[in-house]
Amino acid sequence: MALSTVLSVAGLFAQSGVAVLIAFVLGGLLRRYWRPFLRHWTWSWLALAVHTGAGASAIMLGTFRPINDPLRFSLALAAGIAGYLQIAWLLLGTAELASARALPPRTTKWIIAAVTVFGAVLVTAYAWDPTRTELLFTLRVTVRRCAAAIAFLVGGVAITRAPRIARGIGRRVVMVSFFGLGAQQLHFLALLVAPAIRTRYSVYLASLGFVDVVLYVSLAMGLVIWLLEEERQATMDAAARIERIAYHDSLTGLPNRQLFLNQLGMALHHARRNDTMAAVLFLDLDRFKIVNDSLGHAAGDTLLQTIAERIKQTVRGEDSVTRLGGDEFAVLASEVYGPEDAVLLAERIITAVKRPIVVDGQELFVTTSLGISLYPADAQDPEGLLKTADAAMYRAKSQGRDLVERYVPEVGDAALERLGLESNLQRALELDQLELYYQPIVQSHTGLVTGVEALLRWNHPQRGLLLPAEFISLAEATGAIVPMGDWVLRTACAQVQEWRSRGQTQLRAAVNLSVRQLQTPELVDRVEAILIETGLPPEFLELEITESIAMRFSGRAVDNLRLLKAKGVRVSIDDLGTGYSSLSALRLFPIDSLKIDRSFVQGVPDNTDDSAIAAAVITLGLTLGVNVIAEGIERPEQLAFFVEQRCAEWQGYLLVRPVTAIECEKLLFSTARISGRHHAIAERVAS
Ligand code: C2E
Ligand code: MG
Ligand code: MG
Repeated sequence: MALSTVLSVAGLFAQSGVAVLIAFVLGGLLRRYWRPFLRHWTWSWLALAVHTGAGASAIMLGTFRPINDPLRFSLALAAGIAGYLQIAWLLLGTAELASARALPPRTTKWIIAAVTVFGAVLVTAYAWDPTRTELLFTLRVTVRRCAAAIAFLVGGVAITRAPRIARGIGRRVVMVSFFGLGAQQLHFLALLVAPAIRTRYSVYLASLGFVDVVLYVSLAMGLVIWLLEEERQATMDAAARIERIAYHDSLTGLPNRQLFLNQLGMALHHARRNDTMAAVLFLDLDRFKIVNDSLGHAAGDTLLQTIAERIKQTVRGEDSVTRLGGDEFAVLASEVYGPEDAVLLAERIITAVKRPIVVDGQELFVTTSLGISLYPADAQDPEGLLKTADAAMYRAKSQGRDLVERYVPEVGDAALERLGLESNLQRALELDQLELYYQPIVQSHTGLVTGVEALLRWNHPQRGLLLPAEFISLAEATGAIVPMGDWVLRTACAQVQEWRSRGQTQLRAAVNLSVRQLQTPELVDRVEAILIETGLPPEFLELEITESIAMRFSGRAVDNLRLLKAKGVRVSIDDLGTGYSSLSALRLFPIDSLKIDRSFVQGVPDNTDDSAIAAAVITLGLTLGVNVIAEGIERPEQLAFFVEQRCAEWQGYLLVRPVTAIECEKLLFSTARISGRHHAIAERVAS
């Protein structure tokens, strides 16, 4: 046997062995990773093993058997068919790799059948060609080499572009091996076509088979590395996903409490070392529950997402924001140099949240109450900071919402004591601890006191005078509000009727009503009974319903209000502007008064938005023919604005704070004192 023959036979057998090995590896990977392309590639390497193995055997036999010897022919046939199948399967697998999905089995079957026939025909034609034409030989060898070159190069390109493939060493090794194999086929082809070169370089040609072996081995190694890398990437992705789920709020994508506490812990560590400050801002949306209850959870979700986005945009990149659950958010501000910085940030957030939000075509106005706690002044650990900020937020709520409060040590205690209040609250009425304070409502252009608003106070034996914010919601939750509200109604009606009978005939009683009361079936009867009992004409009783409750008018509540209206009782919408309603919705309900909320009055006249809203409400009131009242006027400029805007009535600390019945009486019966005060203020503003 010539050296070249020995070399090529040895090379082919080596290739065959390696191909079997690779097929094994691929089969193993297939079972483990179940990627469609692995199946076709396994077949492809098996086919290569057959192609090279049978080819080598045929060459060996060829040295002492004629080409049409049955054994030699069968081997040549097997080698020829397997050679084409190898390429077909390689390409099929590559197509699957590139598209990342399995090909339909019918298609692959047809392709395989066609390729088998094609290979068989080519080999047979060559074997039975008696004249041994160069052409047939060239065709037989070059067609397959050509196809193989194309298949390898296509495979290499497909790998560079395949989607969802981790970038790593493995993939690069496979890609380079594919290109190498493609180049190798072309190189072989170039040497093969010319018979002169073929004979001259026969030894070199024959030894090229070993280069193939090397390339196959690197290909197999690359594949294993690649799939392992992919698995590692998938594991890392999964871990990241789990982390995201475990440490983030799914609705807003913000870090959750746990992650926030971790970040806070790190920030505090940093602050301690550098002797700097950090602040925690605790936010709770005002009356969010009502949005959720009345517009549905989807709307509530959209609202929360919008607000989360706004908070995120307001804080700096290094600050972190969390949603603690429900409508509670917290912000960690690490670069603060004093309380003013934290307050400034808090105010920016409050302003951002306040901008109208359109949900389902409805314009919503949401405000937020915000508490601030500072490291190291208020607390030294993450939990403590969050708790103190929460306590400060709670105080902001009780001060009238839409506010910023800094933590003061008693706040925490007050929050704790709230729990103790509950049991006492039930007995406050029996023990005669409730008292009504009154705040006069005056006519803007005359200064005449046209009404008094009854405001509930609780003289707590230990804690002193408690404001409604500290116990009304509790009373609502426990149901104690119903008997309490009854008492308020009776006391206010009786008191006002008494003042009326002594000459204040224009005076009306403004009484706040809670949701709970509004929904009790007996409300209408109770009110009627109280009016008869006290002798107060119905048109001198004005029931105040907060805007957010008004927007929930439904079923029983609406019926109750309509019945009361029919009996001549007046209805007013309180805290207008703090709910989420569009003002036009108010047209649907027959109301007598609108009270502009203190939070808008506060911004007048400096804040152009607030002023514009206040002015719009007054205009709306004028067109609807309802009485508009501005509440919470504290400064002369505010009064000047509302007088100028022709707001009918006002109340506020500027005139007088809510006072006891005795003090109120003194004020009322020296009318000069009140209207005198009004005029004095009005004149001061005018000049
Ligand atoms: P409201 O009906 O909006 O009452 C006005 C609140 O603003 C009162 O607070 C009043 O003291 C305060 N206020 C009046 N003028 C000014 C001012 O110029 N500046 C400031 N900063 N505040 C001013 P109060 O008495 O603490 O009552 C808070 C809320 O509690 C009331 O808001 C009302 O919604 C509720 N409330 C009071 N009494 C009752 C009651 O008998 N039953 C029910 N269901 N709720 C009540
Ligand atoms: Mg009120
Ligand atoms: Mg109000």
